[in-house]
Amino acid sequence: MRTIGLLGGMSWESTAVYYRLLNEAVRDRLGGLHSAEILVHSVDFDRVVQLQRAGRWDSAGALLGQAASGLAKAGADCVLICTNTMHLVADAVAALSPVPLLHIVDETGRALTRRGLRHPLLLATQYTMEQGFYHARMRAACGIEVTVPDLPDRELVHRVIFDELCRGIVRPESRTAMHAIVERGIAAGADSVILGCTEICLLLDPDALPCPGIDSTTEHAMAAVRFALADHAGSRAAA
Ligand code: GLU
Repeated sequence: MRTIGLLGGMSWESTAVYYRLLNEAVRDRLGGLHSAEILVHSVDFDRVVQLQRAGRWDSAGALLGQAASGLAKAGADCVLICTNTMHLVADAVAALSPVPLLHIVDETGRALTRRGLRHPLLLATQYTMEQGFYHARMRAACGIEVTVPDLPDRELVHRVIFDELCRGIVRPESRTAMHAIVERGIAAGADSVILGCTEICLLLDPDALPCPGIDSTTEHAMAAVRFALADHAGSRAAA
């Protein structure tokens, strides 16, 4: 089995979800007491948030690139940036990583394509919804055009992510508000929803939405399991 390297802590609430999903999937595939080989570099999220707010993306890329290189030195065979937002600096991280970076947008796009979904509404941080990198990658990798909510709704989603979910707070009224945003997205033509922040799965069940939901955390983690178990003799059906 190959070793999965996680760049986590952004926030640690979602890194914990990755940890559980990876181990459950490897147990399901290999059976018995099997679990995933994982290395985690969990950063102090406050440091990353300060760089985000200051727009110091180069410094953030260098920070995460060094961490990726450290994971590879420690024995990781691949690296995952466990946040959609910080994929804004994925190219910088990949440049410093001697092992493959599994890209969250590519894996989310593949899941949309498998299900024939072409007009997803993206729920994410304002960085992800507004800075263009996510749309560009999705268009280039999968030919899919992503739409986003209008500004007041984008501000609400961003606030829920940073003020609640990244702090481990799950509020039913925020779930109701998110569902209303999804309804408005469907009315505007969306055929699906991307849970495009790795904490949103703490609040929203993709299967309980009024249209198909693709969870970026799950798709990213399952891609890592496929990578880790590729060619593994004892592996059962594909993840
Ligand atoms: N984990 C979140 C994401 O997937 C937000 C935290 C961050 O800004 O990295 O975008």
